[in-house]
Amino acid sequence: MKIFISSFGTESNTFATYPAGIAVFEGGFWNEGDIAAAPVTPWAGPARLWLENAKARGWEVCESIHTFAPPAGTVSRFTYEQLRDRILDDLRNCAPVDMVLLYLHGAMVADGYEDCEADLVARVRKIVGEETKIGIELDLHAHIDQTLLDVADIIVFFKTYPHIDHNERAQDLFDLMEKTVSGEIHPEMCLFDCKTMGIFPTTPEGPMKAFMAEMVEAEGKDGILSLSLNHGFPWADVSIAGAKMLAISDGDPALASAVAQKFGRHFYRIRKVAALEFTPMDEAIEAATKSVGKPVLLADVSDQTGGGAPGDTCHMVRAFLDAGIRPATFGPIWDPAAIETCFQMGVGARSFLRIGGKSEPQSGPPLDIEAEITFLKRDCWQENDGMAEVFIGDVAVLKCQGVDIVLTSNRTNVYSPGFFLSHGITLDDKQVIGVKNLYKHTDVFADLVSKQYYVATPGVSQPDFSQLDFKNIPRPIWPFEADPLNLDGDSE
Ligand SMILES: [Zn+2]
Repeated sequence: MKIFISSFGTESNTFATYPAGIAVFEGGFWNEGDIAAAPVTPWAGPARLWLENAKARGWEVCESIHTFAPPAGTVSRFTYEQLRDRILDDLRNCAPVDMVLLYLHGAMVADGYEDCEADLVARVRKIVGEETKIGIELDLHAHIDQTLLDVADIIVFFKTYPHIDHNERAQDLFDLMEKTVSGEIHPEMCLFDCKTMGIFPTTPEGPMKAFMAEMVEAEGKDGILSLSLNHGFPWADVSIAGAKMLAISDGDPALASAVAQKFGRHFYRIRKVAALEFTPMDEAIEAATKSVGKPVLLADVSDQTGGGAPGDTCHMVRAFLDAGIRPATFGPIWDPAAIETCFQMGVGARSFLRIGGKSEPQSGPPLDIEAEITFLKRDCWQENDGMAEVFIGDVAVLKCQGVDIVLTSNRTNVYSPGFFLSHGITLDDKQVIGVKNLYKHTDVFADLVSKQYYVATPGVSQPDFSQLDFKNIPRPIWPFEADPLNLDGDSE
């Protein structure tokens, strides 16, 4: 038995202009085909696990590159084609193989390629032929249609958001692929279009936890091999956008179709209560000015780098200053140039500074302030809720009218209170804590704050989809249309 493994992905926000070029992949996760030597991260985990499983069975393993770029704008055509062709060349060099395992993202868009994963896997299929089995693991924030199903044998998506099951799903995929290659099972995949866009956390406080448990409960019995809900990635204007339910049966296409429809309709019925709720910025600022006691947390969700945004807008911190909210803190704002200015001036200096607002039209305007530099440090790292620390580059902290503002030279979100605490900022005395992130910070700040708001500021990861210029997404789709499947009046 000979298998081929590779990892290649990013999440492309087609509204963002900061591009994912080759340097962004190299600066993200990059491994030259020796995944056993990679640090244990969510990006390395699945391929490492496949390698270990295969070695334990005495199989021969060929590896190509493993690389993930942090979410950004559309991938440049040159970058995508160069990395894709590297993987395809490596595959040609080790063919024939019995099995291909690919850890992709599912929401990579490149210049000229709306669905990079379908393009890549179709080319893989051409090289390996129809007999070789192809298995793919995807993030649940993916775009998918029948094109990818037609060229793959098994697709398994993450089930959790925030994502904590990379490795469990990798093991599911490996187990199913092993049985497929041996002829024990005959997977048949079917996709149901839920005609829905949104962000759907699977954490215990929402209905998605029960939905996830029902999927797991149904797997491995009555002819169903695997179930996945692709939530979709809402900040991409692509024709295959939206949530889709995938069912894989053992040799029974009609069963896969019926089960995909059953679970897809069930998800559709809970979509409104499952979707993360957002607060308009003026309402959130109003609530923050009136808060007493523990700090209130405001998440600037529209400029979060995890959704491909640049991370340099100043709309929320400007609102803090305009409303006279203090003491407060806000971060991060991505601004390497302003940080260099701060290093030239030194801690304790006061100066007029222009920060943020540089990357794209929705980033602006920048914030012009008179501030004191209170903290400077090169080469900083951020805790990440038990996972590998995140490199955030150089850090400068500015104090302006009672607001501590954190600048970083690397694009990042706030993943932990340590982002502030390790840079000389106290939190329990603040009236308001402002962070750039969508949802991932929620649990780690829960004990520190009295209330958390997910705030719809301007930006390219804007949760108010009506503010974004969608031209290509399939219509009808919720929330643009109220009930595209015409099921809201029905009982299940
Ligand atoms: Zn995701």
